[in-house]
Amino acid sequence: MSEPAPQTLRADVLIVGAGMAGATLALALKSGGLEPILIDRAPLSDQWTETFDGRASAIAFSAFRQWRTLGLAAELEPHAQRIEQIMVTDGRAPGAASRKTASPFVLRFDSAEIADRVEGEPLGYLLENRRIRVALAKGVKAAGVQVLAPATIQKVDFQDGGVTLTLADGRRLTAPLAIAADGRNSFLRKTAGIGVVGWTYGQTGVVATVDLEQPHQGVAHEHFLPSGPFAILPLTENRASLVWTESDTSAKALMAASPEAFQSYLDRRFGDFVGAATAQPGRFIYPLALDLAERMTAPRLALIGDAAHAVHPIAGQGLNLGLKDIAALAEVLVDAMRLGEDLGSPIVLERYARWRRFDNVMLAAATDGFTRLFSNDNPLVRAARGAGMGVVNAIGPARRFFMQEAGGAVGDLPRLLRGEAL
Ligand SMILES: Cc1cc2nc3c(=O)[nH]c(=O)nc-3n(C[C@H](O)[C@H](O)[C@H](O)COP(=O)(O)OP(=O)(O)OC[C@H]3O[C@@H](n4cnc5c(N)ncnc54)[C@H](O)[C@@H]3O)c2cc1C
Repeated sequence: MSEPAPQTLRADVLIVGAGMAGATLALALKSGGLEPILIDRAPLSDQWTETFDGRASAIAFSAFRQWRTLGLAAELEPHAQRIEQIMVTDGRAPGAASRKTASPFVLRFDSAEIADRVEGEPLGYLLENRRIRVALAKGVKAAGVQVLAPATIQKVDFQDGGVTLTLADGRRLTAPLAIAADGRNSFLRKTAGIGVVGWTYGQTGVVATVDLEQPHQGVAHEHFLPSGPFAILPLTENRASLVWTESDTSAKALMAASPEAFQSYLDRRFGDFVGAATAQPGRFIYPLALDLAERMTAPRLALIGDAAHAVHPIAGQGLNLGLKDIAALAEVLVDAMRLGEDLGSPIVLERYARWRRFDNVMLAAATDGFTRLFSNDNPLVRAARGAGMGVVNAIGPARRFFMQEAGGAVGDLPRLLRGEAL
């Protein structure tokens, strides 16, 4: 008896990587009438476990509009903490910004200052990644997106007319276009021969969640120390997510510390300016590096999310950049489909690359610059950055510009980031 022919599945777009970027793109494309297939090497349910990803993400208000437009509001809003203020301080002791005395080493952003322009939206929202992943998985299922996970890609063929992925079980997937949403070490990016520019920082982010004694009132604190930034990010239920950046060696020591020792390090680092903070069980570490792809596209391929740009979390912009990629790419592809164009043609891909290239490179460069400028204890550098912060803090329009920029509401906004359906 002859072997049955291997199954071939056809789609409009093959999305490799069902992390937060890949799953959002699948939903966006489906909402615009395209048929994507979403592929991941691991089952989606792995992403919801308590031990998979302990981080919370600061999500710009425009990026949150996209999720709302894609139907995720009911699932996300109960867990979304509004960020009403951001306090940035520079120095050795946390909390300088909350004291009454004016200091040049302080920057204070308040959502009230831009309320007229953004219809009362906050500066952004803080959401635990686990909640985002669950909401996306439910959304993908409800929308009827075809998901293949776990699936192992054995072979990738980029041809003139399309792309074919062969899975380890023999199935073949074909489409006019593939998307690399497979993260910082993107296999698809490497297969297409796209290089990266980047380096490691010798810093590791230690992430933990704490219960706060005093109400946080939606204030996010970013405190710059020579070892790297120490961020206290407000969560619902009066909790906070800490991103505690240390040298790789010190971060390993923090991870290895007993709960009691970790709590006592934490007490010393926190001081008393936001009251007592009690660490919840569970600590996570993330080595920090910059990886910027040399190109956003290749024949029959587009890159989104960390596959295109993995940046230091100093400004909480990594996923936000990915969400901007998605809004732009989904709009380009849905419009191309409506015009009857080939979705993977160079002319269509160039529209996407042109829209996103500048913003991605500028933000990666700015993030890298901030990291170097602020992870530095040289007295001259400290004085210069303190003066710079003082100037921005004193000038209302400058502060408002930074808030609009951080909110992702600057430039040529795709429809989804304006809160409009495709
Ligand atoms: C400490 C820290 C704090 C951060 N805080 C913020 C913040 O506040 N705000 C913000 O905007 N960003 C933040 N970020 C950045 C943000 O977390 C990332 O940008 C985001 O998680 C990237 O998502 P992604 O879907 O592009 O990639 P990933 O999360 O890496 O997902 C990639 C997916 O691809 C799959 N995959 C990989 N290889 C293959 C393969 N060969 N075949 C099939 N599937 C594959 C993986 O299983 C995974 O599901 C932070 C980052 C760190 C480290």
